[in-house]
Amino acid sequence: MSPEGNLNMLAKKKKVAAMKYLGEAVLHQKAQPVAEINDDIRNLAQLMLETMYHYDGVGLAAPQIGVSKRIVTLDVPPPRDPNAVLSPGERELLSKMPLVLINPEIVSSSPVLEYYEEGCLSVPKLYAPVERPVSVVLKTKLLDGPEILLDCGGFLARAIQHELDHLDGIVYVQKVKSPAFEEIQPQLKTIIKKYGARGYKLNRLV
Ligand SMILES: [Zn+2]
Repeated sequence: MSPEGNLNMLAKKKKVAAMKYLGEAVLHQKAQPVAEINDDIRNLAQLMLETMYHYDGVGLAAPQIGVSKRIVTLDVPPPRDPNAVLSPGERELLSKMPLVLINPEIVSSSPVLEYYEEGCLSVPKLYAPVERPVSVVLKTKLLDGPEILLDCGGFLARAIQHELDHLDGIVYVQKVKSPAFEEIQPQLKTIIKKYGARGYKLNRLV
């Protein structure tokens, strides 16, 4: 068998987890802290990364693959503008992507808010604006590194907030304000009808 054939075999063997969708119970509960970083956690992180890439995402939280643990994977690209002023967190972390965050926390948020269109692998083919702080101070253990405390801005701040919300059982569509919320109702209803647990009702937070 040619080396190329071998590679193709390996690619086909890659494991990808099934995605959980809006309305499924695991997405709407608080995830549990990771007590110890062991081989199970490393394997789970690897599965999350492969699943994130398979679905073409830039971030994934463990509940999105049905595991109620406080783990997030990120592969946030650098800003398109090469002259963009980077926050300390972007300077430190963008070159280290992909990252696996263990028990991440936001310890403070900037008072300045901005709207930005978000999408989510658990809410397919839908984008809607969410207002969030422009920067956050992230405290987290890295799977392959120390605990860090960094002020993160830019799209990194957006991705961190979106993914950490998943660890608290929050999906971004719960934070979409009117009138955008009303505009996405038909799509939300379709997704919830297809995947939602019996009796699930979207709980709006704004
Ligand atoms: Zn999401």
